[in-house]
This record gives sequence, structure tokens and C-alpha cells, in this order.
Amino acid sequence: MHTAKLWVKKDGDLVWCRLCSHFCRLESGDYGKCGVRVNQEGVLKTLVYDRVAAINVDPIEKKPLFHFQPGTRSFSLGTMGCNFSCAFCQNDSLSQTPKTTGRISGELLSPEQLVNMAKSRQCFSISYTYSEPTVFFELMLETCVKAKKEGLTNVLVSNGFMSRECLRELRPLVDGINVDLKSYQNDFYQTYCGGSLKPVLANLKTIKEMGWWLEVTTLLVPGLNDSQQEMKNLAGFICRELGPETPWHISRFHPCYKMLDRGSTAVATLEKALQAGKEAGLVYVYLGNVPGHVSESTLCPVCGQEVLSRSGFSTRITGLREGKCSKCGAEIAGYGM
Ligand code: SF4
Repeated sequence: MHTAKLWVKKDGDLVWCRLCSHFCRLESGDYGKCGVRVNQEGVLKTLVYDRVAAINVDPIEKKPLFHFQPGTRSFSLGTMGCNFSCAFCQNDSLSQTPKTTGRISGELLSPEQLVNMAKSRQCFSISYTYSEPTVFFELMLETCVKAKKEGLTNVLVSNGFMSRECLRELRPLVDGINVDLKSYQNDFYQTYCGGSLKPVLANLKTIKEMGWWLEVTTLLVPGLNDSQQEMKNLAGFICRELGPETPWHISRFHPCYKMLDRGSTAVATLEKALQAGKEAGLVYVYLGNVPGHVSESTLCPVCGQEVLSRSGFSTRITGLREGKCSKCGAEIAGYGM
């Protein structure tokens, strides 16, 4: 077990974890809500520092990041554990198993080994993903430092529920992030995710101010967060607070984990959300989990030329030169970074 970072000791053996916005207060022997941090006689320990549970080389578009190092490979890794408990989780065997069974598996791989693996596989970046990277902060932080030194970029795929202290530590090390903005209703976060909305909104604004490249994803679950008003609220927030050029990925729900009582999101509903995004003023809105949909490609917002053609996770640069549209010269957000 590895001693955790970002916690303070209170009276006796009580510790206060400062890593995410749950701010768990743990007596000796208690586990945090993430299931992978434990108070061991007054010292907070992480159970996943040396337990890498998933590794893949993915296209960066799979994160999804569409405006960041397009067409490149990203060395993607994750451990078990998550500070949320989403009923519709697509990765529950990784994220929820520590909480439901107490089992934590994974491979001992040092930050140095991970960076070497990324380089030997011709990756441009390392993505911290699959479960919630906040909960494997110690491993992520050390790997980020080594990756930067070797010229790789660092990418997070996150629920955005980390603490301010966590963001501050990561600030100089991270280049891009995709944050799930799951809903604009606090009730939704509380009932279906075991979280809350306010910290996510605040973190999104901070991330934008910090200058990381930011894209946002929303999974539309039929009957829960797919009303016209919800779409307007989500799109309005992204456009107003994060900027009209922030890419918004609207993703199709398929029944999984505990949410098997409804069908997949209708493509017509996703298209209404796409429309709501455009009406709110967002320049780049994409549908996810709808292979072959016309919205997968990136068009120049000024002249309409296709600058990147996508099909599934395969990307072809068709009209992009040095971050600009090759036809009219307009800047395409993110690509010049
Ligand atoms: S990371 Fe979050 S959920 Fe886990 S112990 Fe710390 S405050 Fe609790």
C-alpha cells in the first residue's frame, strides 16, 4: 500500500481526504467512497498506485478529443475504482468492483515503465481514463511528470469531480481533458451518479481558465436528461461559461450495468440535442456512438469546408493546414495548440 497525497490528519486517527469533492472523513479502517483509499491507523493509503488494471493504445478520438492532436495514438491506462457510482456505467467491472467485492486487481507498472511503453508504441500522449483518474491521482501525477519530460502530452478523461487542490497539482502537467457533464440537474447527479453538479460546473470553469484543451461529453439517457430544456441548459452553460468553440460530444446511451429498463437513445433525440447546441451558439457539436453520422466530421465554421473527415475512430485530415482551414484560412479551435 502506498501513502496517499492530498489529505490531512484530524483528531486521533481521523483523516480528511482532499482529493475529490466528496471530501471523505475516514476513521481508521474506513474506505472512501471511491473504494480505493483507506485510512490505515491514521494514515491515508491508496490501493491502486501499483495496480494498473487496463491498458490500450487508442485513437485520441476515442477519448473523445476531436480537436487535440487529431489522428494520433494515445497510450490509455486506468486502475480500478471511481468516486461516482453511475447506474449507467459502461465500465462498471473496473469502476465499481472494489466497492461491491473489495477486490482490486491490476499490474505493477511504474510511471517510468508506462512512459516507455507509450513511447515504444508511437503514442503522442498518455490518457488517464477508463475509470475516474482522480482516484489514481498518485500514479497519474508521477506518470504525468515523466511523460512531460519525454515530450508526451497528458490527457484526462474525467467526471470533473476532483477537488481544487487536485486541479492545482495537475495544472502544469495536463494538456487536454474531456469532462463528462452528465446533466444540468443536481438531482440527476445525486440519484444516478452518487455525486453533485456544483463542483463539476465550478471545475469546468476553472479548467477553461487554466488553459487546458477542454472538450465536454454528455450521455443522453432516455427519460432522464434528454428533455429540450435540459439540452438548452447544458448547451447554454457550455457556450456562455466555457466558450462557443468548446466541442460538445452528445453521446448515445445503450442499456448497461444497472440501467436495463430502457432502450437506446433515439437518433432523432440526439439530433435535437445537436440542434440545441448549434442554436445556443456552439460551433462544434458531435454525436457519439452513432457510427457514420454526418456530424462526426469537423467543418470550418467560416466557409464550411470539411477540415477533418471521421468515420468511427478513423480520422483523415482533409482541409487543415497548420491549425487553419486550408481554403479560407480561418482558425480551427484547438488544432493550433
Ligand atoms: S478520492 Fe474522493 S471518494 Fe475517494 S476517499 Fe478521497 S474524497 Fe473520498
